[in-house]
Amino acid sequence: MVHAEGVRKHFGKLQVLKGIDLTVERGQVCCLLGPSGSGKSTFLRCINHLEKIDGGRLSVDGEPVGYRPQGTRLHELREREVAARRRDIGMVFQRFNLFPHMTALENVMEAPVKVAGTARERARDEARALLDQVGLADREGHYPAELSGGQQQRVAIARALAMKPKLMLFDEPTSALDPELVGDVLDVMRRLADDGMTMVVVTHEIGFAREVGDLAVFMDEGVVVESGDPRRVLAEPEQERTRAFLSKVL
Ligand code: ATP
Ligand code: MG
Repeated sequence: MVHAEGVRKHFGKLQVLKGIDLTVERGQVCCLLGPSGSGKSTFLRCINHLEKIDGGRLSVDGEPVGYRPQGTRLHELREREVAARRRDIGMVFQRFNLFPHMTALENVMEAPVKVAGTARERARDEARALLDQVGLADREGHYPAELSGGQQQRVAIARALAMKPKLMLFDEPTSALDPELVGDVLDVMRRLADDGMTMVVVTHEIGFAREVGDLAVFMDEGVVVESGDPRRVLAEPEQERTRAFLSKVL
């Protein structure tokens, strides 16, 4: 579903991604770990067309990201094509950034109605089903300010799911939450994984990575240092850098 080969990205003189190789198969959960500044968010943003890669190859579901296939006359994707492809990818950030002036239900309905042109009635029914799925059926009329951080994050997940993405990206979805709120959000993500969603998750929740992840990828300084079965990578890392990092987060 996600295929990266030698993906490079720089900002000015700063080389942030120095050749990322990574394959996430359909239905897999890939957990990305690594120290601050190692390029995790940048890599997610490249997958989601929010940043354009400078080199290498990156594709989502077989479609090249950022570039048309080599040899075509128009090398860069047009805005409209980028928007269409981005629709297939749901993204959840550390900060929930819901629309503050909309209720939970309206937040979830917004993109289907405004972007996909779904009829309001149908969008409302689907949004209700999604809020139910994230355990918030009784909060549909609440505004973000009336919800806990964990509840807001679950609304954000429902909102991302409303566009029926084939891939979900999570960038440290629980790291801004009070500890007692983390579990509910991870439970929603776990169920999503069980239902077969393909997911790339930047997280330092080692337990989640071990139990839910099919693949753990440790990044440092713009490269993949080590990757593989989370039970192996997290328990018996081969690389010293991975070991040093894990000893800090565990
Ligand atoms: P964290 O764990 O702190 O979220 P990260 O692994 O997600 O870190 P990135 O956010 O991808 O790291 O950033 C990698 C490097 O790229 C950092 O040095 C950052 O300052 C730099 N960077 C990211 N985005 C930009 C930008 N738009 N312009 C310039 N530099 C950037
Ligand atoms: Mg980040």
